[in-house]
Amino acid sequence: MNIFVTRVIPQKGLDLLIEAGFEVTQYTEKRELSQEELILACKDHDALLSVGPNKIDENFLKQCSHLKGIALMSVGYDNVDVEAATRYGVPISNTPGVLSGATADVAFLLMIAVSRKAFYMSNSIAKGEWGFFEPTVNLGQELNGKTLGVFGLGRIGMELAQKCKAAYNMNIIYHNRKPNDEAEESLDAQYVSFENLLKQSDVLSVHVNLTPETKGLFDHTAFKQMKPSVIFINTARGAIHQEDDLLQALQNKTIWGAGLDVTNPEPMEPTHPLLSMPNVCVLPHIGSATAETRDNMAVMAAQNLIAVLKDQEMPQAINPEVFHH
Ligand code: NAP
Repeated sequence: MNIFVTRVIPQKGLDLLIEAGFEVTQYTEKRELSQEELILACKDHDALLSVGPNKIDENFLKQCSHLKGIALMSVGYDNVDVEAATRYGVPISNTPGVLSGATADVAFLLMIAVSRKAFYMSNSIAKGEWGFFEPTVNLGQELNGKTLGVFGLGRIGMELAQKCKAAYNMNIIYHNRKPNDEAEESLDAQYVSFENLLKQSDVLSVHVNLTPETKGLFDHTAFKQMKPSVIFINTARGAIHQEDDLLQALQNKTIWGAGLDVTNPEPMEPTHPLLSMPNVCVLPHIGSATAETRDNMAVMAAQNLIAVLKDQEMPQAINPEVFHH
């Protein structure tokens, strides 16, 4: 049996697949495959290891319903029509947990970097602006004892909350659809309404999944309800915030600063005005980009494919009901 892999992935994942006796075709060009090209490639393969934003939608699934399984090398699966996958009997897996620490690190990094205007100040050296010392200019803000608001206190949100509690004894508030008992017990986290999350957070960090309910939720109306001193962080998906509204909120000083690992669209235009603002730090979607985490993601994706190709349930299936029909 053979597997199509859409990008160059860590060797550890490939080795597992090869040792298990499967043939692997790895797409190595540094260009996004169109959906037609991906469908064509999948026609000759039994399973797919999908890396990147490939759309696994109704059209793809209809034409590739022969696939015995699709393993995503990501935890987010907003690019997948899960209902259609289940209808066509195609099991799909993701990589939860193994990237939580690395992604929370990036949210933490952005929080501190924004609070001290770090990227802007670093760039100012290259622009020849490191000159006369002015004690009242370009000041940041302290994080000690401040309130962290987590929108989506799941695996990654929890890791960030733990880091913020340990480093700065921050007070943790959060909003999910249902309370997180573990966080309330171990971190004294407090469940609040979405409206109160907006009103009370000193740092508001977004960790929800991108769904029709969360798409575009951080817009003009949401930013208006936040404290003028708030730092807004998004490491989840760019489409959860309205980028023009965010830019306006920063320009009008409706909010204080922003740290983004995800933008809308990606990649961000190199001339985007957010990139030159003092209180803004933007990274090019590097949440899971450590050698250890990428190895673990590739291994987990490979293990899911090995299971399904050996007629077993995928351990990280996002539509496990496929196996119970
Ligand atoms: P997770 O454990 O499922 O956490 C998501 C949290 O969001 C849950 O606590 C969930 O709680 C809450 N939630 C979901 N929908 C909600 C809604 N409509 N309103 C309020 N709360 C909602 O997921 P995770 O592993 O932490 O990953 C979160 C996201 O991070 C992924 O979906 C992905 O998009 C993103 N991510 C980005 C990177 C990067 O490179 N920047 C890396 C990894 C992941 P309830 O179910 O109780 O609502």
